[in-house]
Amino acid sequence: MTELHIGLILPDVLGTYGDDGNALVLRQRARMRGLSAEIHTVKLGEAVPTGLDVYTLGGGEDTAQILAAEHLLADGGLSRAAEAGRPILAICAGLQVLGESFRAGGRVVDGLGLIDATTTALHKRAIGEVTSTPTRAGLTADLTEPLTGFENHMGATVLGPGAAPLGTVRRGMGNCDRHGAEGLPDADAQTSAEGAVQGSVVATYMHGPVLARNPQLADLLLARAMGIAPVELEPLDIPVVDKLRAERLG
Ligand code: GLN
Repeated sequence: MTELHIGLILPDVLGTYGDDGNALVLRQRARMRGLSAEIHTVKLGEAVPTGLDVYTLGGGEDTAQILAAEHLLADGGLSRAAEAGRPILAICAGLQVLGESFRAGGRVVDGLGLIDATTTALHKRAIGEVTSTPTRAGLTADLTEPLTGFENHMGATVLGPGAAPLGTVRRGMGNCDRHGAEGLPDADAQTSAEGAVQGSVVATYMHGPVLARNPQLADLLLARAMGIAPVELEPLDIPVVDKLRAERLG
């Protein structure tokens, strides 16, 4: 029986809006295929093991995400896992923490630099449902279905050439990477990009939890974690997930 080891990283500081559920979804989708899977929870102050198969990080408030960034930078385990090509899913504050820098608590804070992204502050919170069309960049080439989630952030994230957006926004705000009239990020200026893909990292502003709402993305990460192609995974029929997607994308 294949053993799948899922890292749930810093849920004590990064875990708003049910983001911990992303690890549960990966475990459940693996188990429904007869695989043995377990979640390894890593809390603030603990070392991140580098040999896990897949990692998830959630969102968080500004103060909490500063603590998360400082710890992950000092520890280095997550960066080594990324260098080794292990898939990493990062949500909202997680996306910002994995970028080059972000603004929180009135200052600019260093991120891990796993994503070529810089986050500044919006004037107004971006909040509500978000829907996007996958760009199918890099690791996400096999995504064909629309992505759905819930966003709530004050950060505006601009991607550099090293990163590609995960999706193109159809509804909602996403990265808020278009700037307002004064050259500052403006929550009223609708953006075109949502999230980021770089190497083995997939990052998004979508809470939900995003993997419960987007099973194709969950299986993409699962397949990458197992070192197989997504088509090799046995299809799962979960009517309640189809119903949720129909409602949210409708
Ligand atoms: N604190 C960050 C922001 O407001 C992230 C919020 C979140 O993770 N929901 O942009």
